[in-house]
Amino acid sequence: MKLEGLSLVGYGRAKPAGQPNAAINPATGARLEPGYFWATRQNVEQAAELASRAFFEYGRWPAKRRAGLLRRTADLFETNASAMIERAQQETALPAARLQGEMARTCGQLRLFASLIEEGWWLGARIDHGDPQRKPLPKPDVRAMLTPLGPVAVFSSSNFPFAFSVAGGDTASALAAGCPVIVKPHQGHLGTSELAGQTVIQAARECDAPEGTFSLLFGPGREVGSALVQHRLVKAAGFTGSRSGGRALMDIAAARPEPIPFYAEMGSVNPVFFLSNALAQSPEALAAGLHASVTLGVGQFCTNPGLAFVQAGAPAQKFLDKLADLMAATPPGAMLTPSICSEYCVGIEKVSHVPGVRRAAEAPRISGPGEAMGWAVLFTTRAETFLANQALADEVFGPSTLVVECASGAEMVAIAKGLEGQLTATVQGSAEDLASNHELLAVLQTKVGRLVYNGFPTGVEVCHAMVHGGPYPATADGRSTSVGTRAIERFARPVCYQNFTDAALPDELKESNPLSLWRLVDGKMGKH
Ligand code: NAP
Repeated sequence: MKLEGLSLVGYGRAKPAGQPNAAINPATGARLEPGYFWATRQNVEQAAELASRAFFEYGRWPAKRRAGLLRRTADLFETNASAMIERAQQETALPAARLQGEMARTCGQLRLFASLIEEGWWLGARIDHGDPQRKPLPKPDVRAMLTPLGPVAVFSSSNFPFAFSVAGGDTASALAAGCPVIVKPHQGHLGTSELAGQTVIQAARECDAPEGTFSLLFGPGREVGSALVQHRLVKAAGFTGSRSGGRALMDIAAARPEPIPFYAEMGSVNPVFFLSNALAQSPEALAAGLHASVTLGVGQFCTNPGLAFVQAGAPAQKFLDKLADLMAATPPGAMLTPSICSEYCVGIEKVSHVPGVRRAAEAPRISGPGEAMGWAVLFTTRAETFLANQALADEVFGPSTLVVECASGAEMVAIAKGLEGQLTATVQGSAEDLASNHELLAVLQTKVGRLVYNGFPTGVEVCHAMVHGGPYPATADGRSTSVGTRAIERFARPVCYQNFTDAALPDELKESNPLSLWRLVDGKMGKH
């Protein structure tokens, strides 16, 4: 595969226009070849037209055929893995082992969605048989299932160059649902995105997918990204990134003459509550666990625990001493992009200047010219300071955390009540802790997409039951998840057929159940 620096518009390439833009190695500041040309308005138009036309064919492909495309994409990702991983290492500074793991996760995700759509239960097929003899009015025959929305725009994330990028969870779930995809790749890994895009295109060609089933448009979010979300033929979008970016695009989606669903996964501080018994039993082990979670991947995870709560006292002090030692001894690490690193520096300064907040420990800040290095920072404060400064609950994307000392369990509950929507909340505690903190748990359940017990929030399992979502501002729509098979529901809507002939019904709703799906028939679930 050869890098050309040009967008993939259906099965063609965009023509170079304007000046090329370099990808940057964040570990050295070096510019990487080739230069990348941004897509034009005309390219957006072409990609949207092609996707819309493709939808009428691809959206009606049988699930088995769509599954074939997902599986072939996964196979080709494995074939091309070494080239993609090599380029991703240069563009993101992520270590090879992490990228290999992420590649496996990406392929696993594509195959999981393939199996899901073959099984078909996600469609939620329902049949209510009619009764022409019913009095006073005949009962109609009513059948419903989920159907794809249409072309989907995907904004890939900076921090998962494979699993949340060009062929990541959003793309896999949209293609699985039957929606063509137009990706706006992240500028932090342009070459990796092109290689991934070429791989999807190869799979699409081999599977005879209609042109426009997939396109990849390089360019700035404010131009190419906004134009995609505004385009009348785009029917939904998926996004992972900052709250400011997600909110701007969410507002654009809502302000269209035809508003569309916009699924943004944005910032989260993932609070961890250390309850009394647990803290008294193993303060140092809990400090080590929190440290590992905060500093994993230079802190660049949406599930990074940016806030922790302890009850003041001797165990809390032991915990803080250990955590301070570990944070101070953490080696610095290259961040994903120079701008993420500068945002991190701004965030650290902002927290440092809040009266009542102590910069309790930090690792040496070592960085050469051009290096975008993040260093671990531990802040501590008291509950009253936290409650008086809303900004202390803002995400600082990187390897820092703020530990808040509370005077009582009741203070923890008061703080939890004031928290914004989060992807996760974690409770560390004994069984007795849980029993005596039921109010805290009840409050947290209203704030998050995932509650973690005696663990840490980093690490998101890709499975059927996973919820990687949460109330706004963690996501744009708290009814959704961007990880796990439920993610497919974002790109589908229910359609109901009333009094149709069997021959004209989709196979999924035909009386004989030719696909052998789980369906709800007259209120009873079964394969009938
Ligand atoms: P970002 O700045 O929000 O960018 C994500 C995508 O959105 C990019 O493709 C970007 O395009 C586009 N975009 C941003 N603002 C836009 C706007 N106003 N209009 C249209 N498109 C826009 O996120 P990032 O680059 O990944 O990282 C920056 C910050 O995001 C981090 O410091 C962190 O706070 C947060 N972050 C959060 C998560 C999470 O999952 N919670 C993950 C990663 C990052 P361009 O770059 O081309 O403009």
